Amino acid sequence: MQILRLEALLDNYIFLLYDRQKNIAVVVDPAEAEPVLKKLYELGLKLVAIFNTHHHWDHVGGNKELIRKFPEVKVYGGAEDRGRIPGQQVFLQEGARVEFAQRVAETIFVPGHTRAHIAYYFPPQNLGEAGELFCGDTLFAGGCGRLFEGTPKQMMESLDKLRRLPENTRVWCAHEYTLKNLQFALTVDGENPDLQQRYREVKALRSRQEATVPSLLGIEKRTNPFLRWEQPALQLATNTKDPVQTFARLREMKDRF
Ligand code: ZN
Ligand code: FE
Repeated sequence: MQILRLEALLDNYIFLLYDRQKNIAVVVDPAEAEPVLKKLYELGLKLVAIFNTHHHWDHVGGNKELIRKFPEVKVYGGAEDRGRIPGQQVFLQEGARVEFAQRVAETIFVPGHTRAHIAYYFPPQNLGEAGELFCGDTLFAGGCGRLFEGTPKQMMESLDKLRRLPENTRVWCAHEYTLKNLQFALTVDGENPDLQQRYREVKALRSRQEATVPSLLGIEKRTNPFLRWEQPALQLATNTKDPVQTFARLREMKDRF
């Protein structure tokens, strides 16, 4: 399975997964159809499925047009998103498996950003390889999604599920928000040397307009404040030792940042 990252809208990423043997492709969260169609034609691929993580327009905006161009395409999304994802045919529950290119993705139910949000996780095929996590607007490089339809506790539990995946999992998040996220992170975890170093690296990448996605889960665990609610520095910054309160206050502070 090959993975391509396509830029869309202002700061969205769309991911194209494809199988070179069969010349078929799956697209994750097509914000718009045009960049996807362009790449499919360029590579001579047939689109067989759309994997949506949640119903927001900047993740499903291309569904209709893609279905029009590829009428056999199958549209996957979370079970709770019924009625909100254009063309949805498959309603995935926690743990449901989805096959593509000899790989099997597991559905992880991650409510918080929206009440129906799911992530797609492809475990590594062979020992020593990386797994692939498509997490939409739940976990970002250096941050997490806003709480539109969920509580801090829900989001924290969702992120905790993702945090348990292997450290070398590649995190394919749906927006290029990393630099701003790390600027916030430094205000609450400024003494963290891993964070300081990551900030320097990301700043350099962005000054050359390079992408910071995918990131690695291990790096997220060491630098992303929204995976670090039990760290003393973050408890200090939020003035509480209660994990849910720590997380909730971090999210509030980020909303105002
Ligand atoms: Zn969203
Ligand atoms: Fe989004």
